[in-house]
Amino acid sequence: MSDQPVLHVKGRVLVGPQDVRDELWVVGGRVSYDRPAGARDVRTVQGWALPGLVDAHCHVGLDAHGPVDADTAEKQALTDRDAGTLLIRDAGSPSDTRWTDDRADLPKIIRAGRHIARTRRYIRNYAWEIEPDDLVAYVAQEARRGDGWVKLVGDWIDRGLGDLSPCWPREAVEAAIAEAHRLGARVTAHCFAEDSLRDLVEAGIDCVEHATGLTEDLLPLFAERGVAIVPTLVNTATFPQLAAGGDAKFPRWSAHMRRLHERRYDTVRSAYDAGIPVFVGTDAGGSLPHGLVAAEVAELVAAGIPPIEALAATSWSARAWLGRPGLEEGAPADLVVYDGDPRADVGVLAAPRRVVLNGEIVE
Ligand SMILES: [Zn+2]
Repeated sequence: MSDQPVLHVKGRVLVGPQDVRDELWVVGGRVSYDRPAGARDVRTVQGWALPGLVDAHCHVGLDAHGPVDADTAEKQALTDRDAGTLLIRDAGSPSDTRWTDDRADLPKIIRAGRHIARTRRYIRNYAWEIEPDDLVAYVAQEARRGDGWVKLVGDWIDRGLGDLSPCWPREAVEAAIAEAHRLGARVTAHCFAEDSLRDLVEAGIDCVEHATGLTEDLLPLFAERGVAIVPTLVNTATFPQLAAGGDAKFPRWSAHMRRLHERRYDTVRSAYDAGIPVFVGTDAGGSLPHGLVAAEVAELVAAGIPPIEALAATSWSARAWLGRPGLEEGAPADLVVYDGDPRADVGVLAAPRRVVLNGEIVE
């Protein structure tokens, strides 16, 4: 023990929103609150420490055109890591990124397998594109491939209709969600529109991505069932550009996207006020770059979520929701150290002083 290098984190350790300690030790890659006896090789880091940030909607191994090679996926994960994101819920990837699990220097990834979409109803090269009769079988397959999550595309533009519309009949999602739960996986769905949500929530879905169409009438149902949302506001900020691209061919869709964009902050704030769990997700990896976690936290604050709750949504509560430890005694030492108190100003998240992953300082 005495010859092992030890890391000493001093200042303010934010174990929880109210649980603040003066110091933390890292021994053998794990968190300890007991000073190790006789430690000689001690390195000290000072500042405000948070558990490694969570990006609950991120895609590793994917870019705007589809799957990418391992070198590109590695760069994506390193960019997230250097921004302080040490736990990713991958919200769908056509690449097999399982190899990252053996890399102690890369963020931990909780996978949802590959997106499951209706035929020609999603971005090309991303999803399994199937019909409702095959939904249960594909959900079972992705539940087995993933790390406890399955990702559906709940709505998308229907080109015949010229607007967003639900992708799946009610009976299909009921059977699919039941199958995922039977296999121990939670289910989430990409939903922009209003009218895909009721069926999914009543069918027992666990989370909704984007949720720009979450209207007042559905708030009590989401809250009562504890269905979380991951608003990805840095992504929905791009709706006006998407809308502009659709004006000529799909004016109804474009107008719909603009309405969803205009009320996006109200939507998130109303969900939060109703008691719906809201988590930080950047949607990096499709058209957005990696490393935007601080920007998304700032967006949640802009939407009216109290800073301490926006912080919890990427740290304490997000980790609990995903079933991963924070800075408890014995947990893997995944933490980020900042110059100032992130509870007072979430802006400090944009510039981590030190990132520590599995007890190692990222240089
Ligand atoms: Zn996404």
